Amino acid sequence: MAMKLNISQPELFSQVFEYSPIGMALLSAQGNWLQVNSSLCRITGYSESDFLGMTLQDITHPEDLETTRQVNNQFLDEKIDSFQMEKRFIHKNGSTVWVLLAINCMRDDNRLPLLFITQIKDITERKLAEEDLKAKTEQLESFIENNADAIWMIDGEDTLLEVNPAFERLFGWSAEEVKGNKLPIIPDFLKDSIDRIHQGIKAGETVVGLETIRQRKDGILIHVEATLSPLRDRGGMIIGITGICRDVTAKKLAEEELKAKTEQLESFIENNADSILIFNNEGFVQRVNEAFEHIFGWSKEEVTGVELHLLPFIPAECLEEFKHSREQVQTGQSVNGVETKRLHKNGDLLNVVLTASPILNGKGKQIGWSVIFRDITKWKIAQEHLQNSEKLSVAGQLAAGIAHEIRNPITSIKGFIQLMKSGFGEKPVYFDIMTSEIERIELILSELLILAKPQSIKFERTDIRVLLSQVMTLLDSQAILNNVEFLAEFKPGVTHLYGDENQLKQVFINFIKNAIESMPSGGKITIEVNSDNDQEMIIRLADQGCGIPKEVLSKLGQPFYTTKENGTGLGFMVSKKIIENHSGKINVESEVHVGTIIEITLPFSS
Ligand code: ADP
Ligand code: MG
Repeated sequence: MAMKLNISQPELFSQVFEYSPIGMALLSAQGNWLQVNSSLCRITGYSESDFLGMTLQDITHPEDLETTRQVNNQFLDEKIDSFQMEKRFIHKNGSTVWVLLAINCMRDDNRLPLLFITQIKDITERKLAEEDLKAKTEQLESFIENNADAIWMIDGEDTLLEVNPAFERLFGWSAEEVKGNKLPIIPDFLKDSIDRIHQGIKAGETVVGLETIRQRKDGILIHVEATLSPLRDRGGMIIGITGICRDVTAKKLAEEELKAKTEQLESFIENNADSILIFNNEGFVQRVNEAFEHIFGWSKEEVTGVELHLLPFIPAECLEEFKHSREQVQTGQSVNGVETKRLHKNGDLLNVVLTASPILNGKGKQIGWSVIFRDITKWKIAQEHLQNSEKLSVAGQLAAGIAHEIRNPITSIKGFIQLMKSGFGEKPVYFDIMTSEIERIELILSELLILAKPQSIKFERTDIRVLLSQVMTLLDSQAILNNVEFLAEFKPGVTHLYGDENQLKQVFINFIKNAIESMPSGGKITIEVNSDNDQEMIIRLADQGCGIPKEVLSKLGQPFYTTKENGTGLGFMVSKKIIENHSGKINVESEVHVGTIIEITLPFSS
């Protein structure tokens, strides 16, 4: 029912037109602006007079011109009488304005468009918000789609809503197979605990970096690191769970391998019978093992973090050796089995073998060094005992020959004394002979005593010629007893070496005694001192004895190997050890029934 108002229709229309909050306009059939209201002017930035010289096309965004033309055609073809579209205008200042355009077509009697009535609403803000949302959604989708980690979403009933391609790759399930079903990747034995976790997530918790196990379609279990968080709707209500899983199986295996290796190494260091020390590059002790505490008497606490040579650990006599070894490891070289000495906390001197090597990090850079000390003190003492017993046994064996040897001079002295007693007078010549005989006895006895008495080892410049003639004196008697002759030949100029006189005597006595014993029916022993360079001398002892068969030759140097009834089988071993301690070497050549040549090479002393 229409109300009767005191206002004319055109006036009412023009009021509505002018004051409408949305833009309104009348357009000619050709699209010329005929009348615009102030809202449209505000939306587009153009004034009323600007509009009157323009068409709809003039302010249409170029990308929307085509659709605008198509719509116009539809009006012309009478397909439509009204239309609504979202399109863009170009504002007077050049910016884009999104509008909702509603068009009504007024037609003439021939049904040709006469006039368009348009309503125009500024929707720029909504459009921009929409575009922004679209861009964000696309970003998020691409992020999920292209993520290297498997991503899934479940709803409140644990039904899978979404999985990404990484999920399909990691677990072997395709999206179609699993969407709409329960999450298929939880192994049975974890169902309860995962259920509990899911309850927590649904209550709003987030779990980050959970290390757990998941099951692939083929049944294989894999280690994953999972992050679970609530899935919320726009209102913030929790409607499900999102999960992100990363396969850490390889990492896990590498970790386990590393752990096993570290444990092995740990146990190797800690349970090693040798003392092990680890230093950093600055020379501070990083750690020591139990054997270190045991061998040297210092506790781990006392030495860790200390520069070890600040402790009374290195005897003064070994400081040079220490500096040298330290330089070597600091420049990245190893020190292999150097025999040296170190001090126990209680001051005891320990014989040790030192092995040191640089420690490198994964990139090959030196980060410190390790030092291993093997305590050979007891072994050293055993060796000395062995040498001594060999010495004593040789002395004992020599005693018989020596007793024989000194009986002759004693007999002659006795004769002279009787001669004098029976009144033959005291002629000076008797005394000279007696003195010389007594001196010979003295010499032999003192040599025997030197051999029998334990001596402290003293390296000094020694004349090989003097040494060998003293040895020959000592063995003379046994040689004579066995009908053996010594032939000595010393090359002029070959004189001094550096060594311990008694130890070297022990060596030559042993070899010459062996030579004598190899010739039961006598023969010659050649003793040559020679040299073919200015570094070392060669002492060659050749006999004409029984020779050494091949199978015995290979056993030489083994302790207690002897072919003699009263032999010790130690002589060769001890001699070899002594020569090696003198930086020398021994070479044996032998032919059965022809003889044996022992060649000893020793460095000269300058
Ligand atoms: P021992 O003399 O107490 O038997 P050694 O170690 O001195 O112990 O010698 C070991 C063995 O080597 C001897 O028993 C002997 O069989 C052999 N041998 C050593 N030197 C000679 C040599 N010059 N001629 C022949 N055999 C030798
Ligand atoms: Mg011997």
